Amino acid sequence: MGRRGKLFVISGPAGAGKSEIVKEVLARHPDVRVSVSCTTRAPRHGETDGVSYHFVSEERFQELVAQDAFYEHAHVHQNYYGTLKEVVARELDAGYDLILEIDVQGCRQVLAQDKSAVGIFVSPPSRANLEKRLRARGTESEESVRVRLENVAGEVEEAYHYDYVIIHQDWGDVPDALQIAAEEVYTIIRASRGEADAESAAERCAEPNRREFLDRLAAELRA
Ligand code: 5GP
Repeated sequence: MGRRGKLFVISGPAGAGKSEIVKEVLARHPDVRVSVSCTTRAPRHGETDGVSYHFVSEERFQELVAQDAFYEHAHVHQNYYGTLKEVVARELDAGYDLILEIDVQGCRQVLAQDKSAVGIFVSPPSRANLEKRLRARGTESEESVRVRLENVAGEVEEAYHYDYVIIHQDWGDVPDALQIAAEEVYTIIRASRGEADAESAAERCAEPNRREFLDRLAAELRA
């Protein structure tokens, strides 16, 4: 591959379905990769070290911070998370477009360093839908669900700063919601490469065209 890859930051509230969407994009499109972050949080059931995350101790995390090993890092939901510089350089140099599935603080740090990075916000269609998904996941304690929901209102306000907003519909209401969302992400990636046929399709998801939706959701979350 001749070209250098581009960074795509994907953020959104916990339970909005970011990981599932990213997995689907990777499964369909081998020209896209995801960066595996470091975290101090404990692995959830089914998560594998080195695949879902690099699970590290807080001491090791701070060592990496001191060594300036992180492209960005943040404290999210009572744990530390960080993207390794080495991973970003390796994948972009190899010509892959790289997805960083990180929080809004991380996105700000990335955009400050790389003006060509593209921000994609994954939003639930409604507060009720998000709450349902978060509980259905069954991996969170009630306390953790509460902390995460409390953060949602603030997180959704951040959506206005992203380039694109993807509305991930409920899988119950829209059976192929996951495939639709994944194709929207890939369309945005193709549009960012300058592929003309993707540009008008991506435009539908551009943040200014989602403003009415975001205003409605933000009001719902504040109610
Ligand atoms: P979870 O613990 O549910 O896997 O992730 C919690 C939050 O941390 C999510 O919003 C996720 O996107 C974010 N996150 C995961 N990895 C990173 C990272 O490397 N940096 C930052 N800033 N956030 C991350």
